[in-house]
Amino acid sequence: MNVYDSNRMADVLAALGYVSADGPDDADMIILNTCHIREKAAGKLFSELGRLRNIKERRLASGSSTVIAVAGCVAQAEGAEIINCAPFVDIVLGPQTYHRLPEMVARASRAATGPQKNKGILDIEFPDEPKFDHLPEVTAKGFSAFLSVQEGCDKFCTFCVVPYTRGAEFSRPFEDVINEARTVAAGGVKEITLLGQNVNAYHGEAIKGEPGSEAGLGLLIRQLAEIERIAHIRYTTSHPIDMADDLIAAHGDVGELMPFLHLPIQSGSDRILSRMNRYHRIDDYRRMVDKLLAVRPDMKLSSDFIVGFPGERDEDFEATMKIADEFQFIQTYSFKYSPRPGTPGALMQDQIPEFLQSERLVVLQELLEKNQMTFNQESVGNVVSVLFDRRGRKDGQLVGRTPYMQPVHVQASDKMFGQIAEVKLTTAHANSLGGELVTVANQPSPMNEIERVSA
Ligand code: SAH
Ligand code: SF4
Repeated sequence: MNVYDSNRMADVLAALGYVSADGPDDADMIILNTCHIREKAAGKLFSELGRLRNIKERRLASGSSTVIAVAGCVAQAEGAEIINCAPFVDIVLGPQTYHRLPEMVARASRAATGPQKNKGILDIEFPDEPKFDHLPEVTAKGFSAFLSVQEGCDKFCTFCVVPYTRGAEFSRPFEDVINEARTVAAGGVKEITLLGQNVNAYHGEAIKGEPGSEAGLGLLIRQLAEIERIAHIRYTTSHPIDMADDLIAAHGDVGELMPFLHLPIQSGSDRILSRMNRYHRIDDYRRMVDKLLAVRPDMKLSSDFIVGFPGERDEDFEATMKIADEFQFIQTYSFKYSPRPGTPGALMQDQIPEFLQSERLVVLQELLEKNQMTFNQESVGNVVSVLFDRRGRKDGQLVGRTPYMQPVHVQASDKMFGQIAEVKLTTAHANSLGGELVTVANQPSPMNEIERVSA
């Protein structure tokens, strides 16, 4: 979501004449967009700010000013603290106020040149009106796009800061999402990933401005699949309890929807899931997976795990190992529990010592990596549809992703860049695959299409 937000901030600033710089040394303005989900991210912010202060001072010595802004969830959580600890920061803004950047930049410039001492600007409100109503039209960047459809969370898992930093759950109306998808598709995008902290809790107004017309992600996906040129649809991140039947049915009916789902399980122990205030138990998760496989037998899952949550006993960890084996996740993100200020988990008495968290994480990751490697090896020989959206490091190499998000490297002409092709998978590595081109999908180029429409 921070990638999406950063792109949208670039759209906002483009209206003021800003373009992307090659690096911080050439930039009149630098925005650090931050994540607060685990402790390390906040630590990184302050070390990065130290580096930026040097750049700002160097540029000032040669007569150029630099506006430094901190955005995102660390900004939301730490607020004025950032300005106090790093007074050279000009702007601190939260994830729900970046549509107001033009006003903040103008104030920062006035403060920099004005008579009074420069004082950082702080805007970490949760405005009544959603930022989306005030953002300029999106610009397509590349061939694969993120699209925020839902933000915030009302679930309050005891380990998580999201409800505090991103705010209450909010879904954009169908019309706005579909218009944004149409705009990026006209700009060349062929693959969209719908985003939300709880994306499958999406319940946007099917008729904009009509409360009561809300509908879920399943219907939204069906409507997005109708857009010509959108060939692949994904969505992330989902909560197991919000896998509604209409969404599961869409997996069976909508060919554009990839047979891959990121469904964080967090722990294999019901006791720990309950302490985490997760609304699902292992049996709910199992039922959900069975339903998905019934409509889409080639469906694969990825997941998130937290080890060393307060009170986690050996038997709870054993249960986590057991379910990791049972579900054979093909990719995973696993983390040591990181106590976040202001969350109930941080106040629990029975915190697990770090050495034990680390020990458990190593053991779990070994199993998870083995499962990932097994799946990569089993993929060899399959023919899959791949959108080439990156150039590889080697000459003549293009990179894309399989339907299961495995990066795949292929030798191909540069004409194939931005195209969807059938690829036969030939080699497997721990984190990627190699493949060769089979045939080229016949797709109209977006430019031709636009010319035809305007003609
Ligand atoms: N909404 C999603 C998760 C979003 S947060 C869900 O409900 O599953 C992304 C991931 O970060 C989580 O799945 C969790 O595994 C991890 N995470 C969140 N808070 C954490 C914490 N305090 N310590 C360690 N990992 C955490
Ligand atoms: Fe955080 Fe996800 Fe729980 Fe919401 S549902 S509090 S985003 S982990």
